[in-house]
Amino acid sequence: MTTRHQVGLITGMLILAILLPIILSIWLAQREAHKQFIAEQETYASRVLIRTEQVMNQAKGALKQMDGLAAPGCSPAHLQEMRRLSYSWRYIQEVLYLDGLTAKCSSLESNGIPFTFPKPDRIIPSGYRAWYTQQNDVGIRRYMAAFASDHHMVIIDPMSFIDVIPFTHATTQVALLSTHNNRVLASSAELNKQAWTRIRQGNLESLTDNNTVYTVRQYPDLQVAIMTWSSSLPLSERLRHQLIIWMPIGVLMSLLASWLIIRVLRRLQSPRQQVLDALNNAEISVNYQPIVSLADGKVVGCESLARWKQSDGTYLSPDIFIPLAEETGLITQLTENVVKMVFRDLGKWLHMHPELHVSINLSVADFQSVMLQTLLHQQLRVWQVQPQQIALELTERGFADPKTTLPAIAAYRRAGHAVYIDDFGTGYSSLRYLQDLEVDTLKLDKSFVDTLEYAQVTPYIIEMAKTLRLNVVAEGIETPSQEAWLREHGVQFGQGWLYSKALKKEAFILWAEDNLRMHQS
Ligand code: C2E
Ligand code: MG
Ligand code: MG
Repeated sequence: MTTRHQVGLITGMLILAILLPIILSIWLAQREAHKQFIAEQETYASRVLIRTEQVMNQAKGALKQMDGLAAPGCSPAHLQEMRRLSYSWRYIQEVLYLDGLTAKCSSLESNGIPFTFPKPDRIIPSGYRAWYTQQNDVGIRRYMAAFASDHHMVIIDPMSFIDVIPFTHATTQVALLSTHNNRVLASSAELNKQAWTRIRQGNLESLTDNNTVYTVRQYPDLQVAIMTWSSSLPLSERLRHQLIIWMPIGVLMSLLASWLIIRVLRRLQSPRQQVLDALNNAEISVNYQPIVSLADGKVVGCESLARWKQSDGTYLSPDIFIPLAEETGLITQLTENVVKMVFRDLGKWLHMHPELHVSINLSVADFQSVMLQTLLHQQLRVWQVQPQQIALELTERGFADPKTTLPAIAAYRRAGHAVYIDDFGTGYSSLRYLQDLEVDTLKLDKSFVDTLEYAQVTPYIIEMAKTLRLNVVAEGIETPSQEAWLREHGVQFGQGWLYSKALKKEAFILWAEDNLRMHQS
């Protein structure tokens, strides 16, 4: 994966790292608030159910107790027992003695006008008859629940079934509904019939309608359902409250993740990483610029020049990336790559043309690398190329510290390589090291070739090279007049656009073969 891909990927991750924790925190807050809301409603419904069961158990217990009494109906002992029972059993309003559907006496009246009840609404699962009726023996028009055995009846205020205080944040209402006939048995507030119908028809457990959340629990044993409902508007309030807790955590996580990712991004986009990527992804290739003999124009070899292909197809100048590689400590790795590429590209061709050479540019750091010497040696053997076919170019700046370069130069020369001084004339202390150093060739910098007519010094450089028995390669020859001048002044070799720009391997071989063929005939 290239740095570009990685940067793309990481930028995506960065956006996610910022958004995800925030989205997550909102989602968590919402879920937490909703969960709490539903949990509160359900707890309330459970508490209501417990109450319903308590009330039902009391009704059944009372009927059982009365039925077990031996005293004859409406006798003083019987009446006394009925009164005591309604007095002491909390949810029971009245106890009546029945003969069929007719009430003979009750805990309130010892022998009032006989009152006849309508037929029971239903028989509940425990076998008792059940009514939900407004009719009673005391003349109060109010719906009451009544349960009866063969001879006794208990009257219960339906509100007792649901009269439970909700411990919820929001105001919660509750209703007890008969699933048998869909009647509202008791309700703490007016019930939304439409919502109930929708829940019943859809067999739903909860429903949100018009900012109200309804939850329903069915109890088939009692043939009742408990529906609780409350406004979801306080839910938004709770969400806000949760957001105050979760949002800072989300933002903090985002910041942390972003900080980490930015650090990685910075590292990935560092110049060092970019050069390293270029090396690993083979983005750096080598081109070859012919070097010719000025006497007859015949090719004598070439110079290998590194090229860094950019993602947009353009090439970055080595004048930019070579110093970058030097500064980031990657130059020797780059040079090793160049050496391998040179042999891969031209090894076979050089083997076939032992009279031709390739010169490779080295940096100062390369001269200290033993690895590079070993690599060169090994490549020469593998491709069966003569050491003198590989020349090494070092710029004048490279000679600034002769202590390190001198032994390395000597070692390369002993191994059979030629050593060139590149860009000659652009540095300083030229004369001093020229005497001390054992070099083979001097490359006259392009700036001296560009201004031949004006550079008074050029003829002297050439003369000096001759005195020191150094070959001269003139760089950057662009015009025939430059070529003629250099030839006249005894410069042996030339390199420049007049002959060819630096070419890709295939093009260079074609160019050189063509040149050789011309000079054969
Ligand atoms: P250099 O070694 O002096 O290479 C000659 C430069 O002059 C090359 O530039 C070449 O393309 C350019 N040139 C040749 N003939 C002409 C001409 O007629 N007109 C003009 N205007 N330019 C000409 P390039 O390829 O841009 O390389 C620049 C420098 O980068 C090289 O200068 C060399 O110092 C360095 N370099 C290139 N490849 C490597 C490498 O593999 N390792 C090291 N350490 N340095 C390298
Ligand atoms: Mg060079
Ligand atoms: Mg040069």
